Amino acid sequence: MNDLTQLAQAARELLGPAIPAGYTVIIAKAATCHPDRPGNTRGLCKSCYTLAHRNGTLAKHPCSRTIRTQADFVADYELLRSEGYTRHQIAERLGMRYTAVTTAYLNAVRAGLLTRDRTRAPRRAA
Ligand SMILES: [Zn+2]
Repeated sequence: MNDLTQLAQAARELLGPAIPAGYTVIIAKAATCHPDRPGNTRGLCKSCYTLAHRNGTLAKHPCSRTIRTQADFVADYELLRSEGYTRHQIAERLGMRYTAVTTAYLNAVRAGLLTRDRTRAPRRAA
């Protein structure tokens, strides 16, 4: 059981019968600036994010996003593809969403760093 499952179970135990029919419990990560508010982009609450954006101080609050260079992506993608993995499986292996892998793949193809995926078996020479 992972953390999220445990958290959802704990929330259901706490709120159980108090949750009216038709409502859903949404578990939001607490903001780092105001732990009583839900965290938004860069771990900030909405008002602190807006303020930092207006003041031009967003750089003080770096993204927690995993950064992978295009060269690393191309190398990983080529290796996994050569082992017969589908794009969905590659996304799973790289810990990326399918749409993110597709976007990175298309960018790499456009940049000439990757060849297109083979969509069917190559024709045999006659
Ligand atoms: Zn805040």
